Amino acid sequence: MTPSTRFATEPSVSVRDLRISFGAHPVIDSLDLDIGRGEFLVLLGPSGCGKSTLLNAIAGLLDVADGEIWISGRNVTWAEPKDRGIGMVFQSYALYPRMSVRQNLSFGLRVAGLPKAEIGARVEKAAAMLQLEPLLERKPAELSGGQRQRVAIGRALVRKVEVFLFDEPLSNLDAKLRNELRIEIKKLHQQLGNTMVYVTHDQVEAMTLADRIAVMRGGVVQQIAPPQEIYRRPANRFVAGFIGSPA
Ligand code: ADP
Ligand code: MG
Repeated sequence: MTPSTRFATEPSVSVRDLRISFGAHPVIDSLDLDIGRGEFLVLLGPSGCGKSTLLNAIAGLLDVADGEIWISGRNVTWAEPKDRGIGMVFQSYALYPRMSVRQNLSFGLRVAGLPKAEIGARVEKAAAMLQLEPLLERKPAELSGGQRQRVAIGRALVRKVEVFLFDEPLSNLDAKLRNELRIEIKKLHQQLGNTMVYVTHDQVEAMTLADRIAVMRGGVVQQIAPPQEIYRRPANRFVAGFIGSPA
């Protein structure tokens, strides 16, 4: 099956005619994007091209005045981040420093009022999937960067969100941890089968993780296609140069 037929049914995330400016400076320029259910979509492009802005708009972390965001068939343009069925993982982990790993994982579920036994079960399961079991009573300061990022992923995992949003989650890690965690994220996607939208400026990450890559420049998607197609048939010189395709 080609990705286009595999994801032909109802999109998981749709962005419709999105325009975002900061002051007079347009950052996202009438952007349309459909992301399939269960697809691993990588947003790839140089620093400053608008990747985080697009991801934040999908997450509901910035106001969208012009355009629409749809998630799982619902128009969420005006919905709170917590009501969008998304979980976001940032470069900087954003863990609660005074809480243990277990408390970091369970906090959102406690706020949501889930029964204690259900919270415990979900935390145990996420900890097992992310190899966090021996670390549950530690504080974030007692973890390595890779372990902290696992906790950040675990917080999305326990909420059973349909869509994971990652913003350069590996950028703060050294090369060895980066490789390990990249493989784990890929495995996680294969196990969960949910939609993942993953921002990076790293071509290797994009090529190894993505079902499709959307290459961005100046707030515009230049090409969206599976990695091999982007590599073999880049849409323009910018894509070819950025991906490192043979000329
Ligand atoms: P990327 O994630 O691809 O590196 P960003 O989406 O963070 O790019 O930023 C795109 C552009 O928008 C950059 O020129 C950045 O300086 C600008 N920008 C991002 N956020 C803000 C903001 N809150 N206020 C003003 N300018 C911003
Ligand atoms: Mg960014």
